[in-house]
Amino acid sequence: MDIDQPDLYEIERMIKFCKKYKYIFILGDNDGQKYLAKFLDSVNIKYKGFITYCEKETSKSYTIQEAYKSIKYFHIGGFNRKNLYNAGVIVMDFLNPYYIQRAGFKNLFFLSDLNRRNIPFKIRPHTNKELGIECNLVDNCNLNCKSCDHCAPLADEFYLSKEEFESDMKRLSEITCDDLKYLTLMGGEPLLHPELLELLKTARKYFKNTPINLHSNGILVLNKKNLFETLKELNINLIITTYPINVDYEAIDKKAQETGISYYRMTHIGDGSYKGKKWLRHSPWLLNKKAPNYYYISCYHFNDCTTLRHGKIYTCPLIPYSKHFSKYFNKELKITPDDYIDIYKINSFEEISEFCAKRTQFCSYCDIKKRKNFDFEISEKKIEEWT
Ligand code: SF4
Ligand code: SF4
Repeated sequence: MDIDQPDLYEIERMIKFCKKYKYIFILGDNDGQKYLAKFLDSVNIKYKGFITYCEKETSKSYTIQEAYKSIKYFHIGGFNRKNLYNAGVIVMDFLNPYYIQRAGFKNLFFLSDLNRRNIPFKIRPHTNKELGIECNLVDNCNLNCKSCDHCAPLADEFYLSKEEFESDMKRLSEITCDDLKYLTLMGGEPLLHPELLELLKTARKYFKNTPINLHSNGILVLNKKNLFETLKELNINLIITTYPINVDYEAIDKKAQETGISYYRMTHIGDGSYKGKKWLRHSPWLLNKKAPNYYYISCYHFNDCTTLRHGKIYTCPLIPYSKHFSKYFNKELKITPDDYIDIYKINSFEEISEFCAKRTQFCSYCDIKKRKNFDFEISEKKIEEWT
């Protein structure tokens, strides 16, 4: 599993636990517990409410059935012990859990520290300082890695038009008040775009305050005329991913240093699970769309790779770029209105951040458990690379 993502195996056990008991409660009612409740809602687990240490709604004694029917908050001391054998409590509050046992509850699920921390983090809408947006300038690529997340090896040539880019940048800047964690321009390989430098100027025109990244595989960097000067002038960060290919990365490092641009070279793809020559694979797609509904919470793309494509915001790049897969292999990975929001139909940043913190129907294609690392290879455009 990916490091720092919620532990899917424990989540699976928690869901089994929830299905075993008739009445499910969550101990505590802080933000963490409320985000856990949001997660349970998203996977159709019915819970009744929060058991609290302080009295909120009532101090009367109630049976579990009465409690389950009527109210959302329950004082820990209020329960009649009758029928508690039917109740399960998820404990994600390490403070005084023994009170819950003293109250007569026997069926407890203790959530690990990792999930106590990471489930709320994954499902919490981000603030503008936490949310970055990425956008393909070009869909095709001059490298064509096996299993590319953006399906670049399968893409027809596509270069985003200056007009569309300008319109989307203007609108996005208005909605977000030009206050994002970052805007990343990528691909495919963005340096293949014949009007790249103009697109960079447009991005900076509308995002004067937001950090802007240009993300490249490095192959064309040293030969692209005026690239370094433009990056320097516009204060745009150059991010290069290091691949095991014949590119003189040290020369790029040197040029970046000499020209004084803001520069970062990733020595691995994806997150910290890189080892030796291993590269992170995207989660394979299940064409029957039967991935369990809770898998998404452990997906490193979820709520972390917000993608702009043709005026629409998607939770992750896999959704819009799956079109290349569908076309190439003549399959249909359905993209529905549940999977995006239209930046021309919304009015605030909050609508984006709320949307990105919700599972979409497309997540049912992603077999997160089968994600694994593999050696870097050039794509042979076989369907197995993505399934
Ligand atoms: S360099 Fe990047 S965009 Fe190009 S094929 Fe490889 S992973 Fe995909
Ligand atoms: S569709 Fe959902 S599960 Fe699949 S990669 Fe995107 S966020 Fe992850």
